[in-house]
Amino acid sequence: RAHTDAIGALNPRLNAYITPTADAALEAAAHADAALARDEAKPLTGIPLGIKDLFCTTGVRTTAASNILKNFVPPYESTVTANLLRDGAVFVGKTNLDEFAMGSANITSAFGPVENPWKRKGEADTVLVPGGSSGGSAAAVAAGLAMGATGTDTGGSIRQPAAYCGIVGLKPTYGRCSRFGTIAYASSLDQAGPMARSVRDCAIMLQSMAGFDPRDSTSVDRDVPDYSAAIGRSLKGLKVGIPREYRAEGLSAEIGAAWQQGIEWLRAAGCEIVDVSLPHTKYGLATYYIVAPAECSSNLARYDGLRFGERVEGQTLDAMYEATRRAGFGPEVRRRIMMGTYVLSAGYYDAYYLKAQKVRTLIRRDFTECFQQVDVLLTPTAPTPAFAQGEQSDDPVQMYLNDIFTVPASMAGMPAMSVPVGLGATGLPLGLQLIGRPFDEETLLAAGSALE
Ligand code: GLN
Repeated sequence: RAHTDAIGALNPRLNAYITPTADAALEAAAHADAALARDEAKPLTGIPLGIKDLFCTTGVRTTAASNILKNFVPPYESTVTANLLRDGAVFVGKTNLDEFAMGSANITSAFGPVENPWKRKGEADTVLVPGGSSGGSAAAVAAGLAMGATGTDTGGSIRQPAAYCGIVGLKPTYGRCSRFGTIAYASSLDQAGPMARSVRDCAIMLQSMAGFDPRDSTSVDRDVPDYSAAIGRSLKGLKVGIPREYRAEGLSAEIGAAWQQGIEWLRAAGCEIVDVSLPHTKYGLATYYIVAPAECSSNLARYDGLRFGERVEGQTLDAMYEATRRAGFGPEVRRRIMMGTYVLSAGYYDAYYLKAQKVRTLIRRDFTECFQQVDVLLTPTAPTPAFAQGEQSDDPVQMYLNDIFTVPASMAGMPAMSVPVGLGATGLPLGLQLIGRPFDEETLLAAGSALE
């Protein structure tokens, strides 16, 4: 009730939830109480969670923050949310996001922008963005409107909003959590993960979310280790790589200082700090913004007004498609579909898409080679703290630059986590990113608990 009351009081301002589900949550909480009274607690019994509105939830509207799905009620449950429900979690609502998870500031939602609960020192009236695309989840967790939330991360959408809102966000290895029932953006990159107020809470959530699922052909059949056991594990002798390419232009001084602080903390915990190089990092962003739109243009072809979602009638089939898609998709989604269609078209496929796939292999190889030398990498999560709403919104390229530190790990499929490490000069939270070997989320959790 504390959480549903807080949603009632704060959501009109923060807009973190598209669809709060207070009544269902209170009913589920009553069942949780009864289970606790019978001593039948499961790992998440009664824990109030927000669910990014990209996960299909049976009988609960799932919009992807798009007009084209504004009345879509899924007849089935995503595997990730089914796993959380199996373990006793209570869902308090569906959280806001950038439309189809395309964005870095949660300003492209058809349901309006999300407000970051944090304020710059002395600037009570400036509304800051929560980051994106999982901005609603991050704001909800930061403001106490949920104890934890699910996010999805294609190029940074869990980690960057976690950094902007001062919480922990973990993008697991590609294939660790099932994509079944998660509305697709770029299928070779999309990965679900937990967002919470502590590293331990992320470990507990991931325990439920992770695992093999035969209904997702890229889900990996590997045992799920005991993630909580990694928390507080000794870091003596752990080799931490500092990739020099991440000292990029545009890195704010306060984030540079936080990075140095993080290095000192890990050194004090017994880690060995190693200077490393990921030479293809500089191509990460350009490659990502070819591959992700290409996959998006293909995935979003299914919204044709026939099978599900909204329809706008037309004289002919083509006219109906056009009218439906014009009314259904916002400007950023259209831009991505156009870029993706262009790079996949016959004349440009080799020059752009195929080239990007080759560079992606080189980016992945950088990481694989690096992890022969070190166990984990430490970098900033984003080049700046949260910025003001409207600050970067009219320049898409400027907006894409926010993802410069998060996309390389996405392109390589590596697990990565953002941990809040304190407040910067303007009083805003700063996050550092840990990147690990495939399926070694445990080292991220162990090192992360020494940083938070
Ligand atoms: N900001 C990136 C994009 O717009 C990442 C989004 C995401 O990870 N879903 O594509």
